[in-house]
Order: sequence, then C-alpha cells, then structure tokens
Amino acid sequence: RTTHFGFQTVPEEQKESLVRHVFDSVASSYDLMNDAMSMGVHRLWKDNFVSSLKPGAKGPMRCIDVAGGTGDIALRILDHAREKYADRETSVDVVDINSEMLKEGYKRFKKTMYHNTPQVAFIEGNAQDLPKEQFPDNTYDLYTIAFGIRNCTSPADVLKEAYRVLKPGGVFACLEFSKVTNPLFGMAYDQYSFSVIPILGTVLAGDRESYQYLVESIRRFPPQPEFAKMIQDAGFAVGGLHEGKGGAWTDLWGGIAAVHKGRPV
Ligand code: SAM
Repeated sequence: RTTHFGFQTVPEEQKESLVRHVFDSVASSYDLMNDAMSMGVHRLWKDNFVSSLKPGAKGPMRCIDVAGGTGDIALRILDHAREKYADRETSVDVVDINSEMLKEGYKRFKKTMYHNTPQVAFIEGNAQDLPKEQFPDNTYDLYTIAFGIRNCTSPADVLKEAYRVLKPGGVFACLEFSKVTNPLFGMAYDQYSFSVIPILGTVLAGDRESYQYLVESIRRFPPQPEFAKMIQDAGFAVGGLHEGKGGAWTDLWGGIAAVHKGRPV
C-alpha cells in the first residue's frame, strides 16, 4: 500500500525531529485521542499489560517507563503495587524525548498521591541513548515501553539500552501495535485505521498529518516473530514469561497489539 503522507521518504536522521514535532502537536489532545481512536481499548490493554507484570508482588521495584509520555503506564504500575500489595516504595522513572508529553504527565500526577514523592520522576531523554550518569548500568528491576518503540529511529539501540539499564534478573516488557494475523480482520482493521483515524485526528485534534503518521508507523513496525528475534539479538531470553504460555509474546485482539517480554541473560 502506498503512503498517504510523505514520511516514508524522510531520511532517518530527520525522523527524530519529526517524531518530536508529532508528539509536541498532539500532547494536549493525546489522552483524548487515544480513547477515541481505540474506543477505550488502549486502557484495557495497558491494564492487562501492567497486571501481567505484577509490580510489587515480590517487594518494591525500581522501574523505568521509557517513551512514557503522559504517564499512563507509570500510574498503573504505582496503583497496582499500592492497591494489590500495599507497596508505597516501588518507583517509576518516566523517560520521554518530548518535554510537552512529560509536562502533561507531570500535571496529571499533581492530582495523585504520588506527586512530590520519590515514587515518580519525569526525565527528558532519548530511549536510544540514555545518559549513563542518570541511567547507570544494572539499575532497574523492570523496563517498560508502551506504544513507543515503533517511533524510535533505531529499535535495536532502544533494546541495547534496555539491556544495559536492567539488573540481571530484571524484566523487559513492551506493549506495541503489531500485526493482525487473520487476513479478513486485517482488512477491516486497515480500512479503519487508514480512513477513520486521520478523520478523528482532524475532528478532535485539528491535526490530520500527525495521526496519519501514527497509522503509518504501525504499518512499518516488524511483525511479532521478527521483533521477538530483535529482542533476543539484544541479549534477552524471551520464552516462558507469558502466563500459561511458552511463547515469546502475547497477541492482544488478534494481533492489533502485542506484548513482548524478555529477561537479560
Ligand atoms: N507510553 C505512553 C502511552 O502508552 O500512553 C506514550 C506513548 S506515545 C504513542 C509515544 C511516545 O514516545 C511519545 O511520548 C514520544 O515523545 C515518545 N518517543 C518517541 N521517540 C522517542 C525516543 N527516541 N526516546 C524517548 N521517547 C520517545
């Protein structure tokens, strides 16, 4: 399928500033648009993703949520640890390349009990090159990245950094749009994403192009087995981390999204 928008021809070195622009322009409408585009389903996926990781079950954890945006995953991690295990020591460093997204997250956390506590920090940084002074080797028990890695110029570098900052025995977990496996369902989904999402972007956020970019970035991201292989190549063991299953990933809604996990070996 040909592109509806010229981003595919953008040189790799410009992609980073382009992505920055996209998220600058969608930051304030981001949460609303997420709900509209996915009809609220992204909330269920995120709930499912975080509860599968059981933060707090084995005591307080040090977590990093990369491409953390407005803090959706961080908030769930902290709530899960507190509500299920009365854990108020688990902490999350939310890292994002875009200060506007982080500002929205900070505003949102102001209304929560985690504001002004050591449980959360918002830090600007590039997933592909986390500054070593701020993010030393072997620091975190849990590394999460949700709907973020496909926006990065080099997913391989993101995985390399994830491996570096995780402690031995830590967990890497990625929630990302993926490939629908059933062809009929795939056609319906294509139709929806290529026509409805940019219209929603125009109506709700006044920004068709940014949402068009989001749709195209989903199309270009590698399918599940290929991405699992990339995680392995970065040094992670990928099998047996999905409840009741031996595989390397879990499909959500027929592959619209997928959760990949790994442990550094
Ligand atoms: N994780 C959040 C969520 O699930 O709601 C936000 C996801 S949002 C679709 C993608 C985020 O990735 C944006 O906030 C964007 O700024 C961030 N991002 C893109 N490239 C990045 C990079 N190289 N390093 C860190 N963050 C990046």
